[in-house]
Amino acid sequence: MSIDHDSGNRHVDGEGPDIRTGRLPAAALADNFNDAHPPLTRQQAVIEASRCYFCYDAPCVEACPTGIDIPSFIRSIQTGNTVGAATTILNANIMGGMCARVCPVEELCEEACVRNLDEDKPVGIGALQRFATDHLFDEGRQPFVRAAPTGRRIAVVGAGPAGLACAHRAAVLGHEVVVFEAREKGGGLNEYGIAAYKTVDDFAQKELDFILSVGGITLKTGAVLGRDFSLADLRRDYNAVFLGLGHNAVNALGADGETLDGVLNAVDYIETLRQATDKGALPVGRKVVVIGGGNTAIDIATQIKRLGAEDVTLVYRRGPDSMSATWKEQEWAQTNGVRIKHWARPVRLIGWPDGKPGRNGRQAVKEIEFEYTQLDDRGRLAGTGDTFRLLADQVFKAIGQTFQASTAFGGEGAEILDQDGDRIAVNDDRMTSLAGVFAGGDCVPGTDLTVAAVEDGKIAANAIDRLLRG
Ligand SMILES: Cc1cc2nc3c(=O)[nH]c(=O)nc-3n(C[C@H](O)[C@H](O)[C@H](O)COP(=O)(O)OP(=O)(O)OC[C@H]3O[C@@H](n4cnc5c(N)ncnc54)[C@H](O)[C@@H]3O)c2cc1C
Ligand code: SF4
Repeated sequence: MSIDHDSGNRHVDGEGPDIRTGRLPAAALADNFNDAHPPLTRQQAVIEASRCYFCYDAPCVEACPTGIDIPSFIRSIQTGNTVGAATTILNANIMGGMCARVCPVEELCEEACVRNLDEDKPVGIGALQRFATDHLFDEGRQPFVRAAPTGRRIAVVGAGPAGLACAHRAAVLGHEVVVFEAREKGGGLNEYGIAAYKTVDDFAQKELDFILSVGGITLKTGAVLGRDFSLADLRRDYNAVFLGLGHNAVNALGADGETLDGVLNAVDYIETLRQATDKGALPVGRKVVVIGGGNTAIDIATQIKRLGAEDVTLVYRRGPDSMSATWKEQEWAQTNGVRIKHWARPVRLIGWPDGKPGRNGRQAVKEIEFEYTQLDDRGRLAGTGDTFRLLADQVFKAIGQTFQASTAFGGEGAEILDQDGDRIAVNDDRMTSLAGVFAGGDCVPGTDLTVAAVEDGKIAANAIDRLLRG
């Protein structure tokens, strides 16, 4: 076993964990959490739009999970019809503004763009989409008009991208919608999860206000399915139900020492960070280790570095190609000073001697022992038996979130809906095994992305509309 000397200054025995608030002055924090990708000016947008070939059967449209007519909205920008461009986008994807900020375009529309060649670069579809939707928001336009009232009522549980997309489409089609949301604010992970520098100036709230402003949607916050009401109640009182519950549990490491003080769930810390009015008040370790390989791992590693952590190491059990974070996200973390170490898995977390306590009074974490990994003859992940240790004041677990039906449905039990793995099983219309009950987003099988959740909500609303109109 070896001690990893690359990870910066070492703990001095007897001192205890170095976790502090206010590691950086307010001005530096404001800078670090400013817009990661500033918006295009009108002139830049028109120049970028002119790079589009306006392809017939455009591959970028195929690659967009919500099927936005990309060449059409780019043409509108080029001809100065920016509101028209935004309307095209929002018709297909009501969260086109947020998706322009958070979509991994390098693996979706921009990867498919015919200009994405070695000697060229793809059209900046994400940046153009943001330009158009920001313009519409700035002008305070409402491009949607509701259809005549149908007299039908729909209950939506969860005000994340899936629930809000369903609510909006259903309201536009003339139905009355009530959205029940457990938290204090709507928006789901747009409000509580997405990295702070991707969505500045309270954009999640602005987008939520825009969605609700179409009319016909009542948002009830602090209303928890399984605690305040049951699925049976909703089925009795509404003509259809949509469940956009997201994830409600995080995966455990399953390594000894996981409960030591200073070992945190990345999503919980990110939630606190997103809601913090003073980021300087957040506790930040000097040496931080992040375990995981997805968006959450990249986001916590980069954000904790930008909060002033001196030394951040992200450890992932496989190689870079297996990480669910895209190459661009990995590059982003590295350019922010995060060190990524592949092919290692945690074996145990070791506390400070004599039970030295951390901020919460429990024995604090001091270091983590990892085992190197490799693929065996049958392509399965296996430990090599060689180990190394990393010193850590804080450890963030970011090895994935899951959906637990038993938690979501309270006393009704998990068995009320058929499941597919740990998620709710749905058909192509996003209908569950219960008649009139639909589901979408992270609580159903598929890709866990904002854009995918929006598409689920949209598909479900259209299917509910067909069902209710007989
Ligand atoms: C840290 C992090 C960073 C991410 N970054 C990106 C990114 O950059 N790009 C990207 O495309 N995707 C990203 N994602 C994924 C993306 O945020 C999700 O795929 C998306 O939010 C899923 O939408 P949803 O509506 O299914 O769930 P959520 O956004 O989780 O919304 C579910 C809502 O349901 C509510 N709810 C849950 N249970 C109940 C209940 N019992 N009663 C009432 N309400 C309930 C919750 O409070 C929540 O508001 C990220 C995820 C995380 C965790
Ligand atoms: S593939 Fe590229 S060039 Fe073709 S329409 Fe889409 S954005 Fe324009």
